[in-house]
Amino acid sequence: MDIIRSVEVMQQAALGLRRTGRRIAFVPTMGCLHEGHLSLVKLARACSDQVVLSIFVNPIQFLPGEDFAAYPRPVEADERLCREAGVDFLFYPDTALMYSPDHSVFVEETCLSRGLCGATRPGHFRGVTTVVAKLFNVVLPDVAVFGQKDAQQLRVIRRMVRDLNMPVSILAGPIVREPDGLALSSRNRYLSPSERQDALCLRRALDTAESLVRAGQRSTVVLRQAMRDVIAGVPSAQVDYVECVDDETLEPVEWMERPVLAALAVRVGKTRLIDNTVLTS
Ligand code: AMP
Repeated sequence: MDIIRSVEVMQQAALGLRRTGRRIAFVPTMGCLHEGHLSLVKLARACSDQVVLSIFVNPIQFLPGEDFAAYPRPVEADERLCREAGVDFLFYPDTALMYSPDHSVFVEETCLSRGLCGATRPGHFRGVTTVVAKLFNVVLPDVAVFGQKDAQQLRVIRRMVRDLNMPVSILAGPIVREPDGLALSSRNRYLSPSERQDALCLRRALDTAESLVRAGQRSTVVLRQAMRDVIAGVPSAQVDYVECVDDETLEPVEWMERPVLAALAVRVGKTRLIDNTVLTS
């Protein structure tokens, strides 16, 4: 595995691979890798000759007061996991190499990024689309793999690629969970043992919505309330949002006629967790 820190060296390596007809698959991450990330590497390997994984904690997608400085950066463990997973290039730029002090160009999706996490984290998706566009220009992937865990991010990226005619296919991987249902997340390590138990309320809320839909419920007002009730039963958990939106447009819907994305953001103690499921009638 090659470890590359320079943006220029990465771009030259990618150009070299492309010239020799290699197919590049790319997995962008913020590191602190877990089985969720590694499942994306597996998908990437299955559809390419060379896998590039980037680790970059992107400052411009964090709001003031969020956990940018505290975000875990277990460099050696990440390197080992990448080697074991068969990553060919670990791209590990530092912030100064990615953003010039007078950086002044941003990429902004203006529709899908307004609700859900975009409403409670204003500017977050502008940071995400900007860095992903930059990374695409450096890594030059044929395919890029994203997790359904960040459902809104995935849809925003697909829209960016479509609207800016980027020559890259976007592949999505399903949410990887712990055996008890908690979605894997780098932020799970912030949780105390009791918060770890409390965090199961996200999955329980989604399970509740799924069973109601199986039993014939189509009103998202009822589904949202049922999910809120589950979370309200856990004192350490505080709802950031509980939404049912059209899976394609991400617009709120009141009555399920097409697939609906049930999406939650919940603070457990100080840790903000997200989870989601697609409900189909
Ligand atoms: P992050 O390091 O949190 O920026 O995530 C990098 C990529 O891994 C994103 O595409 C996430 O959606 C994906 N990801 C994170 N957690 C999971 C998970 N539990 N299952 C599947 N993909 C995940």
